[in-house]
Amino acid sequence: MTKLQAPRIEALKGKVTGAVILPEDDLYESARKVWNATIDKHPALIVRCATTSDVVCAVNFAKENGLVLAVRGGGHNIAGSAMCDDGLVVDLSPMKAARIDAGARRATIEGGATLADLDAATQAHGLATPVGINSTTGVAGLTLGGGFGWLSRKYGMTIDNLESAEVVTAAGEVVRASATDNPDLFWALRGGSGNFGVVTSFEFRLHPVGPGVLSGLIVYPLSEAKAVLRQYREFMAKAPDELSVWAVLRQAPPLPFLPEAVHGQGIIALALFYAGDPAQGMPLIAPLRSFGVPLGEHVGVQPYTDWQKAFDPLLTPGARNYWKSHNFSVLDDGLFDAVITAIQTPPSPQCEIFFGAIGGATSRPAPDSAAYAHRDAQFVMNVHGRWDDSADDERCIRWARDFFKASAPFASGGVYVNFLTADEGDRVRAAYGQNYERLARIKRQYDPQNLFSTNQNIPPA
Ligand SMILES: Cc1cc2nc3c(=O)[nH]c(=O)nc-3n(C[C@H](O)[C@H](O)[C@H](O)COP(=O)(O)OP(=O)(O)OC[C@H]3O[C@@H](n4cnc5c(N)ncnc54)[C@H](O)[C@@H]3O)c2cc1C
Repeated sequence: MTKLQAPRIEALKGKVTGAVILPEDDLYESARKVWNATIDKHPALIVRCATTSDVVCAVNFAKENGLVLAVRGGGHNIAGSAMCDDGLVVDLSPMKAARIDAGARRATIEGGATLADLDAATQAHGLATPVGINSTTGVAGLTLGGGFGWLSRKYGMTIDNLESAEVVTAAGEVVRASATDNPDLFWALRGGSGNFGVVTSFEFRLHPVGPGVLSGLIVYPLSEAKAVLRQYREFMAKAPDELSVWAVLRQAPPLPFLPEAVHGQGIIALALFYAGDPAQGMPLIAPLRSFGVPLGEHVGVQPYTDWQKAFDPLLTPGARNYWKSHNFSVLDDGLFDAVITAIQTPPSPQCEIFFGAIGGATSRPAPDSAAYAHRDAQFVMNVHGRWDDSADDERCIRWARDFFKASAPFASGGVYVNFLTADEGDRVRAAYGQNYERLARIKRQYDPQNLFSTNQNIPPA
């Protein structure tokens, strides 16, 4: 920031009720950190917004001063798009308030909330909406890219449960988007990522869930992975919408239910979740135990909010991460060979490859019913390169890229926008699929100057 702008910053500080954080402030170092430690950006200022009018002030300030603008929800995006260099960050992390209308089964939650905030508020009423599998993820970024998790086969993508949103547009106006208010904007928000404005609150439809849910892990040795994956494929083809099973290949973490000798060895873990009466789910999961000889299992009825946090210890912020992702409509034997080969030589013990089963209710809406286009995706694969030391960057990134290439022949061609890394600008069209052109037209209408460009960007048509 030049000296010329200093009085303007003072004026901004006088206008916002939240905090304006500058490089010389003590809070700056922690405020510029995001989940992925490979991201090291230095914004000129971070506006920690406490209210929608703070967001309006911050957006107008960026425009008036010709600053690049980034928007931070939960700070989890692998591409680090919540931060920018030399520009202004609209940081919504203080805006987490939730309001539940249990009778109408609706939640209204602010744009800086995490999944843990949303789940805690909704579960107080025995309700929930489908979100992701790591509770520290931001509701905003997850929803705007589509959003899926354990409840999605039963109740759809997160966006399929979005009723309305309050949005601060590039013009600095506060508008509501829903099926009846600004319907084009509403269509674009449901998968078009952060391209269309700052969402200050989301209204979701809710469903009765738990509080106790049947869930857990069944773990097999990597030596049995091919047989397990083949049976997994057959099993998921017939599974009811209530049942979600994800397959995760990695080295065994020191889980208490696994023999110590297994820790650090290659495994395939089946992570299961039943969205219904646990007594009805129990017999349905029985076949998962006979795909081979399990090394151990930890399956039972536990609070939904606990299961939503079950993977948090493996996904803590602060590690270095590089991901590559494909969608799959079917799982081919050739893919199984590729994944087993790759996971035999992971470059760090934290690396993993997972197949998240979606399908079910996520596949039923038409591909053009919302900006999220990949209704054909039955599985989303992510190769998680994860390590601690920057000296390992090249080795770990190369491993993820090599597996990505080896698995590409079996993929559908689509990709989930929320799993794209910063160097994948060439996959943005694949991420938005057949809906790209309409998104570019709506972008021209709502953000003709591309103010919201720090994201998987859709330039205005
Ligand atoms: C450990 C981990 C687990 C994950 N698991 C899942 C999963 O199970 N299911 C799933 O669907 N995804 C999952 N994801 C991906 C996740 O959906 C994306 O990383 C998402 O972008 C995170 O949102 P955020 O608000 O935390 O991110 P941020 O980094 O804060 O924001 C990401 C982008 O979203 C936009 N944005 C954020 N907030 C707003 C807002 N209020 N208004 C407008 N635009 C905004 C901005 O463009 C920003 O650049 C996971 C990610 C991680 C790191």
